Amino acid sequence: MSKHVAIVGGGVVGLATAYALVREGHEVSLCDSHAQVAQETSFANGGQLSYRYVSPLADAGVPFKALAWMLQGDAAPLKFHLRLEPRQWRWCLSFLAACRSSVNRRNTGHLLRLALHSQQVLAQWRAQDGLGDFAWRSNGKLVVYRNAASLRQAAGKLSEAAGQRLLDAAQCLALEPALEGMGGQLAGGIYSADDEVADCLRFCQVLEQRLQASGRYRRLGGRPATGFEQASGRIRALRLGDESIAADAFVLAAGNRSAGLARSLGLHLPIYPLKGYSLTLPLAQDAIAPEVSVTDFDHKVVYARLDRQFRVAAMVDIGARDAHPSARRLSALRRLGERTFPHAGDYRQAEAWAGLRPCTPQGTPLLGATALSNLWLNSGHGSLGFTLACASGQILSELISGRASPISLEGLSLPQCHSR
Ligand SMILES: Cc1cc2nc3c(=O)[nH]c(=O)nc-3n(C[C@H](O)[C@H](O)[C@H](O)COP(=O)(O)OP(=O)(O)OC[C@H]3O[C@@H](n4cnc5c(N)ncnc54)[C@H](O)[C@@H]3O)c2cc1C
Repeated sequence: MSKHVAIVGGGVVGLATAYALVREGHEVSLCDSHAQVAQETSFANGGQLSYRYVSPLADAGVPFKALAWMLQGDAAPLKFHLRLEPRQWRWCLSFLAACRSSVNRRNTGHLLRLALHSQQVLAQWRAQDGLGDFAWRSNGKLVVYRNAASLRQAAGKLSEAAGQRLLDAAQCLALEPALEGMGGQLAGGIYSADDEVADCLRFCQVLEQRLQASGRYRRLGGRPATGFEQASGRIRALRLGDESIAADAFVLAAGNRSAGLARSLGLHLPIYPLKGYSLTLPLAQDAIAPEVSVTDFDHKVVYARLDRQFRVAAMVDIGARDAHPSARRLSALRRLGERTFPHAGDYRQAEAWAGLRPCTPQGTPLLGATALSNLWLNSGHGSLGFTLACASGQILSELISGRASPISLEGLSLPQCHSR
């Protein structure tokens, strides 16, 4: 039976949810604070559809590494700003508790299951619906290591079953000659031939064009949701200031701001914003830039070709007050890019951007039902929102249609999301 579903959030997660629901024959009203879609974290992310490289940040040894990173100044992969904010302390304590190999392994398994399903869902949408151009390519992903010990550790975790391969330095260079700039610093890499790349903003725009054409979609743009009206364990309506939007089901896909909206309903979502940065430069005419997506593991920088542009993304700032880009962090990112791929293009022409990843301490999203019978969650996708969006949207559409999830939601759902 067709339902009317109201979604809060027009980032990649909210739009993929809307698309999956409309494909199922439901009606969708999507509310976003901005007049256009994908104006927050989905705007200029790393572009990686990183289906096989999904290990969460929380891992054994990360707290010690973080201490070392703090001495690295503006180029550090991670910066910590202590705030007088119990929310930050609670999140950091849970993060530290998740920094164990066993917890990392378990959560990597949950994320891998969701990510591989996401690849299938996107393939189905592309094959059946066409979708249009969003700089999508199946180009493979190479994670390169400068440090032999880190490479050995990663090799111990690689999943051959999921199609990952260990490469030595010479094999990395043979696969991706543009890495020559790293020269003797290269210890080796892990290659996932079936991973993909695309432009997240353009994907969101393509989805919204299809939604607009469906006749079953209405966007309530430029107006923030201010709360919900609830009665008898259900949501009756979404409030946009003075206006109420009644619907059969409601989806919270508001990224970082899902936590605040949920709090008004007595739900605690452990989502905290971790800031990151990107640079987008036009590829030079005779650019020497990688065809495969590259992750520089030691500096935690990702590089991707998006048509005639080159995207460099990196860094985690814990305790950032807003998404305002720090000039010093961006200069450090520009220097890292110039050192690794000096002939990709003119880094002085790069467009700079910063965004806030909606992160749970364990790195797994909050997906599925809540204590309110018609309120559904789709938030907290952290560093992998683009990668996981299609599966997350498709799963919610199945659940809202009254069917079971096509994959197990163990570790991806309510245990991390408890009522107060
Ligand atoms: C530097 C960086 C690099 C990244 N690289 C990658 C990558 O390579 N691959 C990958 O998979 N992921 C990557 N990510 C992560 C990915 O970008 C995010 O996980 C994803 O964009 C989150 O999508 P979202 O829809 O949950 O949130 P958002 O895109 O932030 O969307 C949430 C939307 O909700 C709206 N909203 C909030 N509150 C309200 C309200 N009260 N009323 C109405 N609307 C509201 C906002 O306006 C916003 O549009 C990266 C992130 C960063 C910062």
